[in-house]
Amino acid sequence: MHKQTLSFQAEVKQILHLVTHSLYSNKEIFLRELVSNASDACDKLRFEALNNNGLYEDQPNLEVRVSFDPEARTVTISDNGIGMSAEEATAHLGTIAKSGTREFMARLEGDQKKDAALIGQFGVGFYSGFIVADRITVESRRAGLSPEEGVRWSSEGAGEFEVEAITKEKRGTDVTLHLREGEEEFLSTWRLKSIIGKYSDHISLPILMRKETWDAEKKEQVTTDEWETVNKAAALWTRSKSDVTDAEYKEFYKQLSYDSEPPLAYTHNRVEGRTEYTQLLYIPSKAPFDLWNRDKRGGVKLYVKRVFIMDDAEALMPVYLRFVKGVIDSADLPLNVSRELLQESRDVKAIREGSTKRVLSMLEDLAENQKEQYAKFWEQFGAVIKEGIGEDHANQERLAKLLRFASTQADSDVSFADYVSRMKEGQEAIYYITAETLAAAKNSPQLEIFRKKGLEVLLLADRVDEWMLSHLVEFDGKPLQSVAKGAVDLGKLQDEEEKKHAEEAAEAFKPVLEKLKAALKDRAKDVRVTTRLVESPACIVVEEGDMSAHLARLLKQAGQ
Ligand code: ADP
Ligand code: MG
Repeated sequence: MHKQTLSFQAEVKQILHLVTHSLYSNKEIFLRELVSNASDACDKLRFEALNNNGLYEDQPNLEVRVSFDPEARTVTISDNGIGMSAEEATAHLGTIAKSGTREFMARLEGDQKKDAALIGQFGVGFYSGFIVADRITVESRRAGLSPEEGVRWSSEGAGEFEVEAITKEKRGTDVTLHLREGEEEFLSTWRLKSIIGKYSDHISLPILMRKETWDAEKKEQVTTDEWETVNKAAALWTRSKSDVTDAEYKEFYKQLSYDSEPPLAYTHNRVEGRTEYTQLLYIPSKAPFDLWNRDKRGGVKLYVKRVFIMDDAEALMPVYLRFVKGVIDSADLPLNVSRELLQESRDVKAIREGSTKRVLSMLEDLAENQKEQYAKFWEQFGAVIKEGIGEDHANQERLAKLLRFASTQADSDVSFADYVSRMKEGQEAIYYITAETLAAAKNSPQLEIFRKKGLEVLLLADRVDEWMLSHLVEFDGKPLQSVAKGAVDLGKLQDEEEKKHAEEAAEAFKPVLEKLKAALKDRAKDVRVTTRLVESPACIVVEEGDMSAHLARLLKQAGQ
């Protein structure tokens, strides 16, 4: 193949510009990204080799090597993973194929600070090398191809890159960064080692660097030809709980999620019994920008005996817990497990049920013992939890206890239990009203009689509320009743005098009602005298069992 000069895809140019301009203050992350790519490449080799052991050639030990050359002013990250063919190098290092990237790019608007936070959340990848390098050279040979089928990719990170064929004896990839003027700090064992320690300790492969010794004559540290492992090289979740510090758990979360904020809670367990697995699950403190995309997966990564299998294992978590991040490592699943198999596997079902319960326990614990933290959680993820009421019948009761509402007595954080504890003597139902906004709910004339009688009413204004309530009819044996439906039956709460008064009024107003009924013949089913209003002259209600006005509006919006 002749040397070819090719142009980056437009999105890549945008990413390049953004990464190099907005992430300078955090430039050391380039090493995290390149080591993570090297580690991914080894994971991929291990996975492909399951069906083709020959791919290991004579190098069965997968590893990453980091070195530098002070004279040439270069830092090199090498791996003996899957490698890239010339076509793959052109495709993977010249275009962005990753789903979600376009959407992500579209959301970036040019506010540098905001961009930097977002981009951190997203993960910046290979192109982050250009933060510190004015040229990157990649030499690679895909496992299974002959040494003559190697490729050299090279670019200054502006508009173009070059590719040419080379001979490369060893499979895998060497990424060489030619440092910019002023980036000499990275030509140091100590500096590189400390970055690896900070970001890449949990990488389950050994990361090697050249050993240094003290040269008494030169009176300085000099590098030797010997290599040593500089990371712990044990996947964090495989370590015993008592050996992992809170800081390590949090750092691991950062790498897993690219979230700049620490998680709200996490849980780490080895589950034994019929199915054996390890789970390390985190609850983020902030909702991601695409929380509402129900098709988006990728929160929980599936490993089998420490081999990475897939990171969109939707079979592992119910959709309504799509915000949970973490790792599940199974000891029982076959290594070549397919997506189809995952859907059917009994082991996976057990893992999913077990993990769902773990997450719910974590939330219950927060709700009980860290009310402020739970309120934060609810604000971010409450509406998603509500989806679970309809989707996860097995856990509906537990989920119902986790719900929080606004009510006529508190602006937020009212649980069903709180409500029940404040119910009036003789009150049999839990009253609620749904509306498009909290303000609309709060100001509804339907509430007048409830206010007058000091009865609390839950105010619901999330889009999913109506749908949720079609799946939840009671709590703790008390029916949930809309105050906007039917003739509100206050039952024992209505005193004798009021009843008598209502009956008399109904009698007295009969002629008026007849006229109104006739006038509204095609538009109203019935016109009634009511005791539910105190100040307003009239209100609209729907028949018990009919769609509420709010739901009808929602369906209409959705074109139904
Ligand atoms: P991501 O890792 O999220 O896919 P990157 O920008 O980090 O995005 O990398 C882009 C792609 O380039 C990778 O998906 C992979 O296909 C390829 N790649 C990068 N580094 C390596 C490597 N060391 N070995 C093999 N392929 C690599
Ligand atoms: Mg990457």
